[in-house]
Amino acid sequence: MAGITVEGLSTVYPNGVRAVDALDLEIADGELFALLGPSGCGKTTLLRTIAGLEGATDGAVAIGDRDVTRLQPGERRIAMVFQDYALFPHMTVSENIAYPLRVRGVAKSVQQETAVRTAEGLSLGALLDRRPGQLSGGQQQRAALARAVAASAEVLLLDEPLSNLDARLRLEARTFLKKLQRELALTTVFVTHDQAEALALADRIAVMDVGRIRQLGTPREVFQRP
Ligand code: ADP
Ligand code: ADP
Repeated sequence: MAGITVEGLSTVYPNGVRAVDALDLEIADGELFALLGPSGCGKTTLLRTIAGLEGATDGAVAIGDRDVTRLQPGERRIAMVFQDYALFPHMTVSENIAYPLRVRGVAKSVQQETAVRTAEGLSLGALLDRRPGQLSGGQQQRAALARAVAASAEVLLLDEPLSNLDARLRLEARTFLKKLQRELALTTVFVTHDQAEALALADRIAVMDVGRIRQLGTPREVFQRP
């Protein structure tokens, strides 16, 4: 487990757009942290830069005491879940969950054991042999989270993970995500443009505006007007 330290981070795209602009941020070990703000303010870019999917133009990102901008892909212990879940359609739930372990060359018996244990923890035990197309949106959501968790990531990065769910499933998924995050004490950063979601889930919220943090605090501090 580890916290995240972002120092003087800028991410500039080749077309010159400065999507993240000299940003400082400290996220505590085990914290559930929300990045909130209007479309185009740089939330996804910040998340992708923390994940090492986007190169930092300036500054640094550390997870624990390791500079992630210097890690090789295989050394990163970061799991990212996108809004489209990105489950492999041709693989079963079990194979999807075990995939990160397979890539790392973990023994097949351990892959299976981990897939079963994680799926059961997320009430997916009965669905291990189904393919994503045979699951509801909420079940796909949980399968994507199960895969991230089975990879024993130390940091969970979620990009609008609940935005494709209908209102009822979204509430269910919120409760579930919060419970899971608490149980695993996984440092979690999630991107949302939905204030209610940030309010319901987050320990702290950063409100972004054109590449910078405009407001930072607990939901009470951010949403309570003086
Ligand atoms: P958000 O997630 O808050 O919607 P983004 O991080 O996606 O914001 O985008 C921040 C800014 O960077 C926007 O101006 C967007 O148009 C721009 N941008 C995002 N991705 C790219 C890219 N691959 N190339 C160039 N500009 C990009
Ligand atoms: P989001 O707001 O969820 O980040 P967008 O619709 O802004 O999604 O972006 C979708 C994709 O297009 C992303 O891969 C992003 O990097 C890319 N993109 C966004 N803005 C630009 C841009 N100005 N130039 C090139 N690519 C961009």
